[in-house]
Parts: sequence; structure tokens; C-alpha cells
Amino acid sequence: MFPFPIIFLDIDGVLIPYGKDSRTLHAPCLAALVSILSQTSARIVVSSSWRLYDMPELMAMFRVVMLPTGETIADRVIGTTPWSDQLLDDNIVSRCRPKEIRAWVDEHQFTGTAVIIDDETLHGVPYPHVKTQLYTGLTEDHVASIVRYLTKE
Ligand SMILES: [Mg+2]
Repeated sequence: MFPFPIIFLDIDGVLIPYGKDSRTLHAPCLAALVSILSQTSARIVVSSSWRLYDMPELMAMFRVVMLPTGETIADRVIGTTPWSDQLLDDNIVSRCRPKEIRAWVDEHQFTGTAVIIDDETLHGVPYPHVKTQLYTGLTEDHVASIVRYLTKE
């Protein structure tokens, strides 16, 4: 059902470092994401709170970033993690985000390879978690290990 690996992708602190324009994806972080997507067939599931209110705006920004394959980043986005009161866990990101990711995995009966990219400390995650730094977000330094996780058999 899913012949590709999944990136569970946070946005703030990953593609938008703190201290930068909070409504604009930061070019160096996007370049790192493009590099990852160019080297893998990975698809993106948005786990960020952007999924709740701002998906059209986010997708519009993804739609103008081309990959060498001729796709845009938007073409690689296949969905978002679910949101529900039951998953909320006092609205503490470190606790509810892993639950939301597991709920997506269960719902889609996903058994493949995945990686979680998030600047938050997450408790009990089911996949490798690459934790970005708040003020720099995703960088070239993260690319090799993420590609390795995504291409692991
Ligand atoms: Mg974040």
C-alpha cells in the first residue's frame, strides 16, 4: 500500500527556525529537505500544528519548490497526522505528537520505514527521531542520517 518511506514532518523549528519570519519557509532548511527528497522516494505526512489551520498556506509554499525530478515538494505530501481530543494529552507536544503519529500508522496499517523530523523532545516515538535545533532548523548536517534511515531495508 505504501511503496515509499514516510517523513513525519514538523514545520516550526524545522523549516522555520525561531527568530526568522514565522510565516516563511527558510531557504537553507528547504534546501536540506529538497536534498533528502531528491535522494529518496520519501513521502511527507505533516505532523506540525500547521496542519490544523494553515495547510493551504503551507501547500502553496511547498508548491513552488521544485525537485530535480520535476516534482514539487507539495507532490510528496500525502497527508497529515490526525487530531482528536483523545490524542491531545493535555496538549503537550512531546506526548501528543507521538500518539498522533501512531494513530496515523494504525489508520493506514503502515509497516514501512519512517523518520520523524521535529525540534521537540518526543517521548516514545515508533521511528528514528531527528531532533532539529530551534534556531537553525533542518540543515545539510541532518541530510545524510535522514537519507540513511529512509533507505534502510
Ligand atoms: Mg516544532
